[in-house]
Amino acid sequence: MIFERLVVGSLATNCYIIGCPDTMIGAVVDPGEDGHVILNKLNSHKLKCKYIILTHGHIDHIGALDQVHAATGAEVLIHSADAPRLLNPNRYSYFLTVNFKLPQADRLLEDGDKIQIGKLTWEVIHTPGHSPGGICLKHGNFLITGDTLFAYSVGRSDLPGGNHQVMINSIKTRLLGFHDETRIFPGHGPISTIGAEKRFNPFL
Ligand SMILES: [Zn+2]
Ligand SMILES: [Zn+2]
Repeated sequence: MIFERLVVGSLATNCYIIGCPDTMIGAVVDPGEDGHVILNKLNSHKLKCKYIILTHGHIDHIGALDQVHAATGAEVLIHSADAPRLLNPNRYSYFLTVNFKLPQADRLLEDGDKIQIGKLTWEVIHTPGHSPGGICLKHGNFLITGDTLFAYSVGRSDLPGGNHQVMINSIKTRLLGFHDETRIFPGHGPISTIGAEKRFNPFL
């Protein structure tokens, strides 16, 4: 599997590039900013980007959605509970704004949905709390956790629609049951494993 983490934008958002080496079909997760960097990376891998998947609708994860969508024509996938945010993203942000119209969702995701990237099957896990439509994405031992679970930390819950107890419950009931070796790839900061988070995360 082709899998790369790019750190983009003023809030150092982790954008992930996923690619199937057999079919050269790819996807971008959370194009937060720096669209040219994301597009260059897709090009360097010679990937045809089929999907733009959003772990949630916060502005630091969608700042380059417009640019990547325009350049690739990829379908935009987001959980149904966060999809309305693409209509009016600035209402849900305290400090960042976008000044252009965002592409809208082509497909609304629900818990348990499968996303087929070439021969790679990724599963959608609904983990509300940081935002109502927050999702994690899992393929084998790879778990993209958005702003729900970070290395030794958890997401904030003070933004509109956030709920700390709901988020902790999502992490405990939906994520911590995975194998200790499962590698987590958060929306910000370094990567970790489920085993390390179970032992050392002070919020859990
Ligand atoms: Zn967020
Ligand atoms: Zn974020």
